[in-house]
Formats: sequence, structure tokens, C-alpha cells
Amino acid sequence: MSTQRFFLSPESIDLASGQVEVAERSLISQMRSVLRLKTGDQFVVLNGLGQLFTCILEEIAPTRIRARIVDASQASGDLPIVVTIALPLLKGDRFDWALQKLTELGVAYVLPFVSDRSVVKLDAQTPNPNRPSSKLSRWQTIMKEAAEQSERASIPQIQQPAQFRTVLASIAASAKGTDLSLICAERRRTERLSAVLTKEPAGNLVGRNVALAVGPEGGFSPQEIELAIECGFQAVSLGPRILRSETAAIYAVSHVVAILADG
Ligand code: SAM
Repeated sequence: MSTQRFFLSPESIDLASGQVEVAERSLISQMRSVLRLKTGDQFVVLNGLGQLFTCILEEIAPTRIRARIVDASQASGDLPIVVTIALPLLKGDRFDWALQKLTELGVAYVLPFVSDRSVVKLDAQTPNPNRPSSKLSRWQTIMKEAAEQSERASIPQIQQPAQFRTVLASIAASAKGTDLSLICAERRRTERLSAVLTKEPAGNLVGRNVALAVGPEGGFSPQEIELAIECGFQAVSLGPRILRSETAAIYAVSHVVAILADG
């Protein structure tokens, strides 16, 4: 059985004393009641900044858990490239499901959006943009658990939902000339995603940014695709079948990972 892994805030890890202290109630309850860890058990702590600590549990009380660090190393499991996905808000639990799978695949950033043909509206998701929504914290929990499960070194970051045009502008503003920005557009005469990716010289993308945009249930409007192209995106096809948004996102990220990062 693999060793349990937990992301902890860097403040919980005291390198000077070689101690880790868990004060977060939900994590204490998971470690005590769900996983039934006992003193002497070994587990792994990640600080989300690339470091991994092997720990031995020394105290397990209802309000705190204390462990001794027995080894420190660099965490692996993240991609050599930085993958950002602009992902539409979707009906039901499809957005949550996509978040979990995209985290497992290695994305670094998720930018949720609504666009011209979105079924889900922005107001219902973010009643007050200055107050972190309960949805945002639920999404962060989904991604943290998926990152732990898939043995990643870091948890992807997710932004508050925004209008698609705002998301495009933020990707365009931070893009360097060497970055690859791709918008998935069905029923257009565009190159296949796999063909675009295989043209990239092997190893050339290490440390570079790849941004992908996938449309909502109703697809992107022609104006949105044109705007994306003006913002430096290239339109790509995922093949002759029309995929649902969450399938398209997973298909596209899987191709990027397989062709550019894991190959
Ligand atoms: N407008 C389509 C329809 O209902 O007939 C469906 C859009 S599809 C469900 C949602 C998004 O997935 C699209 O905006 C696009 O980004 C992506 N997508 C799905 N199939 C695709 C394909 N074959 N090629 C490129 N993108 C695709």
C-alpha cells in the first residue's frame, strides 16, 4: 500500500526543530477517524512548494497531531511544462468532475469562465467577487485531494470565475513569444491538436506555458474564436466527433501531456 500523502501549509512544517504539527480539524479527523493512523506510523507531507517530508507520527490527539521529520527531498510528480486550462462552468457536477481529472493529469492553473453560449451564469456562481465563494473553496478541496491521490508535488491554482473575454485578456497579457495558446473549436477547418503538438521540437517546451481553452455546452461563438485568435490563440480540432466540454478538456490536456511532457 502506498504511503499516505498530505499537503500542509509551510507554517505547519518547522524545519529547525524537525517537527510537523497539524492543527486543521478536518485533516486531524481524516487522519484519526478515517485513516486510523497511530503513533509510529509513517506518512508523507508536501509543502506545495516542491518539497516532500517523510514523517513519523509521534502524537495523535483530538486537537493536534505532531510528527517528526525523518527525511526531506524534492517532490516529483508535476509536469515540466505549465499547463493552463480555461474551463467553462458546466451544469451539475460536470465541472467538479473535470477539475478532479485535470488535476490528476497535471494542469497548473484552471481559469473558470462563462461565455456567450454558457448555460451556467456568472451571478449564480459568484454572488460577491470580494468574498471567497463556498464553490471556490470546494473546488480547492477537490483539487487538493486529487493532487494528493495522484502524487503530485503541488496543488493547481484555480481563479474566481470570470467572463471569457477577461480570461483571454489575462492569458494574452502574460504570454511570452514562446508560449503555445490553443482554442478547441469544433466544425472548423483547423489543424488537429495532435498535429500542432507533434510539430513542437521534443524537449523544447520545458518550463514553457501551454494554454488551452475549451467551450461551454453551446460551444464558442464565432466572435469569441476570432477574439481568441487576435489574442494569439491558434484554433485546433479534436477530431470529427463533437465531444462534451469536460471530455474535450480531458482529451486536449491528455494530448498535451502525452506528446509534450510525458513522452
Ligand atoms: N456546439 C456544439 C454542439 O452542441 O453542437 C458542442 C460544443 S462542445 C459540447 C463544447 C466544446 O468542446 C467546444 O466549444 C470545443 O471547445 C470543444 N470541442 C468538442 N468537440 C470538439 C472537436 N471535435 N474539436 C474541437 N473542439 C471540440
